[in-house]
Amino acid sequence: MAARLLIRSAVRAAVTCRAAPAPALHRCMAGGIPTDEDQATGMEKIVMRAMKEGVDPYNMLKPKSYAGSKQDPHLVPSITNKRIVGCVCEEDNTTVVWFWLHAGEPQRCPSCGSHYKLVHHDLPH
Ligand SMILES: [Zn+2]
Repeated sequence: MAARLLIRSAVRAAVTCRAAPAPALHRCMAGGIPTDEDQATGMEKIVMRAMKEGVDPYNMLKPKSYAGSKQDPHLVPSITNKRIVGCVCEEDNTTVVWFWLHAGEPQRCPSCGSHYKLVHHDLPH
């Protein structure tokens, strides 16, 4: 008797499971694999947006080259009114000439005479 009850309940359970099949599995990423822009948050997102607009908010890219003359000085971004600048006066030099660059008129490197000018830079945050 007990065996019959067990068999009936097992058959009933099997039938109900078949009647209501589990929903088919589908991929959550129906729109494709998310890109870096989709997944970025916070500072990474700010930087990615700025890079798309062509702005380099944290000076991560190679600086533009300038002639270093008085008319076309090397532009040095700074968030304050002064910054230490290192000048490798000639391409093969093994030493760097360090000097303070102050806001205002372009200054010359004490060794080679290249001109540097401080430009104000605002951080994006
Ligand atoms: Zn120099």
